[in-house]
Amino acid sequence: MTDSRANPTSQCPYCGVGCGLELLPPGEAGKSVKRDADGNPMWAARGDRQHPSSLGQVCIKGATVGETLARGRLSQPLYRPTLNDDFQPISWDSAFDLLTGRIRSTLAGKGPNAIAMYGSGQFHTEDYYLAQKLLKGALGTNNFDANSRLCMSSAVAGYTRSLGSDGPPCCYEDLDHCSVAFLIGTNTAECHPVLFQRLLKRKKRDPKGLTIVVVDPRTTDTAKIADHHLAIAPGTDLALLHGLARLVIQDNGFDSDFIDAATEGFASYTQTINAWTPGKTAKFCGITEQDLRAVGRLWSRKEGVLSLWSMGVNQRREGTAVVSGLINLHLLTGEIGKPGAGPFSLTGQPNAMGGREAGGLAHLLPGYRLVTNPEHRAEVEQAWGFAKNSIAATPGLSAWQQVEAMEQGKLDLWWVAATNPLVSMPDLERVKNAMQRCPLVVVSEAYADTETSHYAHLLLPAAQWSEKAGAMTNSERRVTYCPSFRPLHGESRPDWEVFAELGRRLGFTEQFSYKSSAEVYAEFTTLTEGRVCDVSGLSHGLLQAHGSQQWPFPKGHEPTRISKRLYVGKRFPTASGRARFQSEAPLGLAEPPCDVYPLVLTVGRYLGQWHTMTRTGMVQRLNDMHPEPRLEMHPEDAKAYGLDDNGLAAITSRRGTLTARVTLTDRIRRGSVFLPMHWGFTQAEACEANTLMHEQSCPISKQPELKASAVVVAPAVSVMKPAEQQTGRLESLRRLLIPALR
Ligand code: SF4
Repeated sequence: MTDSRANPTSQCPYCGVGCGLELLPPGEAGKSVKRDADGNPMWAARGDRQHPSSLGQVCIKGATVGETLARGRLSQPLYRPTLNDDFQPISWDSAFDLLTGRIRSTLAGKGPNAIAMYGSGQFHTEDYYLAQKLLKGALGTNNFDANSRLCMSSAVAGYTRSLGSDGPPCCYEDLDHCSVAFLIGTNTAECHPVLFQRLLKRKKRDPKGLTIVVVDPRTTDTAKIADHHLAIAPGTDLALLHGLARLVIQDNGFDSDFIDAATEGFASYTQTINAWTPGKTAKFCGITEQDLRAVGRLWSRKEGVLSLWSMGVNQRREGTAVVSGLINLHLLTGEIGKPGAGPFSLTGQPNAMGGREAGGLAHLLPGYRLVTNPEHRAEVEQAWGFAKNSIAATPGLSAWQQVEAMEQGKLDLWWVAATNPLVSMPDLERVKNAMQRCPLVVVSEAYADTETSHYAHLLLPAAQWSEKAGAMTNSERRVTYCPSFRPLHGESRPDWEVFAELGRRLGFTEQFSYKSSAEVYAEFTTLTEGRVCDVSGLSHGLLQAHGSQQWPFPKGHEPTRISKRLYVGKRFPTASGRARFQSEAPLGLAEPPCDVYPLVLTVGRYLGQWHTMTRTGMVQRLNDMHPEPRLEMHPEDAKAYGLDDNGLAAITSRRGTLTARVTLTDRIRRGSVFLPMHWGFTQAEACEANTLMHEQSCPISKQPELKASAVVVAPAVSVMKPAEQQTGRLESLRRLLIPALR
């Protein structure tokens, strides 16, 4: 099939569902030209019916993306020597001179590890790939990490430990084939809406053929359609999984043929789960034994069990153990590598998957390689044309470790690209303070007024998704070509081009001489040959001609729309070819409730906003859906703390206090409260939820436990603004940025 449609098609740049979009130019087909609030003509978007991942479906965020392309853009490089100075426009040439000078002096002084980059699942794969080549190859530091660390790194670590490699083994068609959908730690209805609608339609079509289980402390919109909702106490998910496994064994519901032929570690696993009797598990998790047993029977008796998870599992200090605990259940029942079955992580960002393929975390190299593996380093050094031992042998600083390094004065240059950590990181005041200690904070951004921009010295205008060509991979391993369909805004440039030019200016002319992103992609694909994530047969040309393709797609592979699964042959990429049971005792929350902070605050997302509102905050229709952040609280808890519906609450954790209006609802269990994470200090309704969250992380994945911290609530007399607003500092910084907004 050749794609010859007149309008450009692309992948939605928001969540990891990665829906196909068709982009309609302003005034398309004789319609009047619609304009955004600044008078810019607007593109429109609708679902691409030919995209196999979404089949023409799209949610309100994807449908309104055209309204976010032109407003509030950063037009030119801006620089200020200190955070107390005004930003001044500078040329790209001066910006590169500044960067090369500071990189050279840092390398000569403190060495390569005083430089770090914090990138993003918003990058195209080409941006990701060249960032690795620049940092890990040319500069000799593995200090590249991405916001995927806050989002998916527990899934990466869990897959790798249990199955031998990263890479979700399932595909979206499994939603049409499964008999049980086991959703744990995922509010799919709001965070991955198009997949949720697919599941809902299946349920309506075939109510008896599909049983939906939702494990979530909140009665989310996802939980409302569940046949079984296990509203477990926060932090008890691993115990639940162990308890379910014990029931499966007790019920003779395990697949001994699969266990014998394809796994290892079963004996030790059975010892671990043996402690989790139904009575103990139900009590620990705060659910009834009857509900636990009902779900256990589903795992024992049904074929086609598909589990889906996202941040509720990953953002935990035992995130990797919980991911492995879930995979254990699939290994126990042989529910993997066949239609309608398998452990399926849903990525939060549009190209977090592509980032993992390109080596975009501090411990990775392209092609799912590891920096700690000498053979992997040698392969990449040779492919990149760098001398032996150019790549450091130890993992670089993870996201939070980069913050700690700034705090300790160890980083001289922190480069943030395509992400907004001053909303998404935990313990935000600590991050702000750390950034003020870093001599040069560089922010590559498409938009002028993000929270992180307020703490930058050098702002580099980045080409936005619609203005640069590249590839993105969605949660089901499908790679979509994303074309440039609008001209560059002002002096903005694609990130990959900036990394390539910097590489050349640092003297690596040969290694960074690319004429197009297609050339960058072609080089990247050669590094995946023979790996689990083999895309060596893909190119920009093939993706343009034949539409999106799933990997593995080795050289010589024919384009196809048929969905693929991994591990259909029951062989796994481990040394023994067997998947591994992992046996870990549950730890619970890193910061459990106590007498002083008796409630558990969990943060999450609203359907109409995406992450830090840099883009979705510009769409009036989306803002109208959720005019302000609300604290969800159980009526009994509210009564105990003297709070009323719509009243103002002060929410205090060990890290700070903020205020929000209260919504009383029994959709949240007693003892827990909920806040959305979207609103940063640049929003009129500022409510920096992550200010309250702690940074304690999973020791394996290094992913912080953003899902739970201990808080206390009390009635508030007035709205508390972020610290910058109290001092006037925010307004003064904003004034400095105003010219850039024009
Ligand atoms: Fe975009 Fe995700 Fe909505 Fe699909 S579900 S349109 S990828 S935000």
